[in-house]
Amino acid sequence: MKVNISILIALILSLILYYLKISPSNNLLVIVGVLSTIPVVISAITSLKEKKVSVDLLASIALTASILHGEWASVAFINLMITSARIFGDYTEGQADNAIKSLLKLRPEIVKVKTGNGISQIPVADVKIGDLVVIETGDRIPVDGKIIEGTGNLDQSSLTGESIPVTKIKGNEVLSSTLNLTGSFVMKTEKVGSDTTFEKIISLIQSAQEGKLGIQTSADKFASIYITITLVGSIILYIFTQNLTLILSVLLVACADDIAVAIPMAFWGAIAKAARHGIIIKGGSFLEALPDVKTLVVDKTGTLTKGVVKTDRIITFGNMKSHEALSLIAGVESVSEHPIAKAITLHAKNDGLTVKTPQKFKEFAGKGILAYEKGKKVVAGNLKFIKEQKIKFQDSQISAAESEESEGYDVVYLGYGGKLVALITLADQIRPDAKSTIDKLKQWGVKNVIMLTGDNELIAARVAKEVGITTFHANLLPEDKLKFVKSYIGKVGKVAYVGDGVNDAASLKLADIGIAMGAIGSDAAIESADIALMQDDFSKVVLAMKLGKHVDNIAKQNFAIWGAVNAVGLFLVFSYIIGPEGAAAWNFVTDFLPIANSLRVLRHKIIN
Ligand code: ADP
Ligand code: MG
Repeated sequence: MKVNISILIALILSLILYYLKISPSNNLLVIVGVLSTIPVVISAITSLKEKKVSVDLLASIALTASILHGEWASVAFINLMITSARIFGDYTEGQADNAIKSLLKLRPEIVKVKTGNGISQIPVADVKIGDLVVIETGDRIPVDGKIIEGTGNLDQSSLTGESIPVTKIKGNEVLSSTLNLTGSFVMKTEKVGSDTTFEKIISLIQSAQEGKLGIQTSADKFASIYITITLVGSIILYIFTQNLTLILSVLLVACADDIAVAIPMAFWGAIAKAARHGIIIKGGSFLEALPDVKTLVVDKTGTLTKGVVKTDRIITFGNMKSHEALSLIAGVESVSEHPIAKAITLHAKNDGLTVKTPQKFKEFAGKGILAYEKGKKVVAGNLKFIKEQKIKFQDSQISAAESEESEGYDVVYLGYGGKLVALITLADQIRPDAKSTIDKLKQWGVKNVIMLTGDNELIAARVAKEVGITTFHANLLPEDKLKFVKSYIGKVGKVAYVGDGVNDAASLKLADIGIAMGAIGSDAAIESADIALMQDDFSKVVLAMKLGKHVDNIAKQNFAIWGAVNAVGLFLVFSYIIGPEGAAAWNFVTDFLPIANSLRVLRHKIIN
């Protein structure tokens, strides 16, 4: 940055002296011109080595030609425009970086760790998995882990963008970088350093900004095509006219240094901005694709519904008591991350029941869990699973379940020792903003909305109707969901899939844009999604869409501005109104337009 500014000042000074005809300004212009050309040529060669044609290549050719022609004022102007574009680029990168650095400051340096003889303060880098960390009021959480004692009210805005405090109690997960507003607790360390959710997010944003995820935006693709066309065009022009001055002027007008800086700048800005609001976007191309989403496929549980189901009723059969049934099923469910499983386990714990994790178990995604307790087979899951596991039941028992389901309750069947012993009904609430979010997305151009669910037809129909979805598919296993997503791809516009990452990581990956909700506690969701909404907030899909539209508009405006500027420039060149010097000056002066336009992203109040 400092080097670029010194180059800029040297260039401006030498140009002023040159135009004031103060000697030995000519020599100064030559020296400054040659020196400032070196970094441009180096950068062009570097990208050529990576098999990329960059704007610097165009500039290097123009610079070399100008030097060979002794067009020293042109050399100065080209370098002036390249350098100023770089300074702007660095500036926005700095702005975007600040957004991330301000996040990095959230990591405490010193941690209070419980040891055999009290509490000792150690650097965060020395905390190990299993260490007991003491968190007091006002402390930031240094590592990821679980509360083993006490409670806290956490501001999780560093991860979610949402500062309304969340209460965390014994057994809950707490994440590095969040702030303990009130209360105090002891947590057991589970993840440190780069494994924590916080550090993962930061490195994701950084690699998204650096384009390291290997995903090009259409602007990147356009740039290389455009540069190639300009080069080939110049050669053809040379063959026909052999007028080097003319070609040099054309190259100087056409050098797309501004757009090469302005477009990535807009994407960086938007990615950083989104991150501040708990929306992690893994590359500019996803932002760019959002406005093209015409098909939206949504998972039901955890996406349209809260997924924090509450156990409502327990119906038992035979001599099984309801607290026995709850304790038994909670033990089995304690091994699963499924919202249903979490709800049942929580309910049993709140009732003060013992929840014993089984020694031997197997989870069947989208079906349920099979475990062994005192040598007896325990099966918890849906009707299909119960049948598959050959659990005996009577038709009257099933009709009891069906009447619950027709009222919109989820039913989990519990089989023990080969017989159906209990039905647990759960009520999952539809998110209050589900319908309005879908309506808004339709206003933003989404044509088809499809709901997928592993739940049965009755429940699916009720939820779909309530949120205004006409197409849904029920009774699906994760692989069926994947098949449906696949069947929609390539049909109507781009396909976005919104899910919670539980049992649907494959669908998140397959869709054109995979959007994971409530990704804060789920590494799987963060890893498989293209856009991760840290918070459990469906309406943020609309915000991401708005941001995508905004950046897309800016990119389009920039192309329009640049097209117009180039047309005027080329007209001036071909009518011999300006020569190389004028062409370089024209390019320099007009560089500011698209760059200033892109800076609007950082200022835009899309979300606030
Ligand atoms: P969805 O997210 O669409 O509801 P899932 O694939 O997550 O679909 O689950 C489908 C169904 O499988 C659930 O509605 C439930 O009946 C059953 N199921 C899945 N996992 C479990 C579990 N751990 N315990 C009990 N039932 C389960
Ligand atoms: Mg699900």
